[in-house]
Amino acid sequence: MKQEPMSKVCAVFGGSRGIGKAIAKLLAQKDYKVAVISRNLEVAQAAVTEIGAHLALSCDVSKENEIQCTFKEIKNNLGNIDYLVNSAGISRDALLLRTRSEDIMSLLSINLVGTIQTCKVALKGMIQQQGGAIVNIGSIVGHKGNIGQSIYGASKEGLIGFSKSLAKEVAKRNIRVNVVAPGFIHTDMTSGLKEDSLNKMIPLGRFGEPEEVAQSVLFLLESPYITGHVLVVDGGLQLHL
Ligand code: NDP
Repeated sequence: MKQEPMSKVCAVFGGSRGIGKAIAKLLAQKDYKVAVISRNLEVAQAAVTEIGAHLALSCDVSKENEIQCTFKEIKNNLGNIDYLVNSAGISRDALLLRTRSEDIMSLLSINLVGTIQTCKVALKGMIQQQGGAIVNIGSIVGHKGNIGQSIYGASKEGLIGFSKSLAKEVAKRNIRVNVVAPGFIHTDMTSGLKEDSLNKMIPLGRFGEPEEVAQSVLFLLESPYITGHVLVVDGGLQLHL
């Protein structure tokens, strides 16, 4: 008798809103089993219902113990993780001299250390099951820099160095690690920006949509011969920077 392929188990950190939510939705549409994770459980639950995902969990990625508990919950409810997406992130835009120490620590501990910790915990299961794929959400700011975003840029460029090194470390285990680096995307994070003037710098003339980033994430998750890659999704913005 022909056996149905097992549905992949996916964890999307930061999956309750914005880019992460669009990624979780696309994965759920592929009939994968999707866990949506964010600090606010109610918002994560609402997203799970809206997009047809499977599990909502509350976790602050800057807290290692919460990450451990989250992976246990996912394993107990959905099984071993095949795909990990790290989209949890914050911005705290300010010139360095005006940036508070607590904001420096939050940016680094959520955007960079949080992602490192989720990857570390996910790897244990992926190594056991001899395969998996990770996509970390970076930013064009990591590549090119931006005034008022020195710490944010450090966290995102740090992610790229981390992901490329990890890709080398785990390739022999059949685990791939890639980065998607978006430009300006319509989400809560960019809602305060002056879009008209920024659009002039973007060759495609507009902000991107979360769904347009999600397509690239899915492509990398499902591409068996791509690892250590940074895929820029920015409407051509980097050509101008
Ligand atoms: P949103 O603010 O729309 O969503 C952020 C998501 O991350 C939410 O689900 C939020 O849920 C979650 N989150 C934030 N902090 C934590 C935390 N400490 N622990 C767990 N979850 C957390 O942002 P975007 O969708 O715009 O951004 C997603 C990623 O893409 C980020 O890493 C961002 O840096 C990156 N990016 C975004 C760009 C853009 O133009 N929008 C451009 C380039 C990169 P909750 O608050 O409930 O925890």
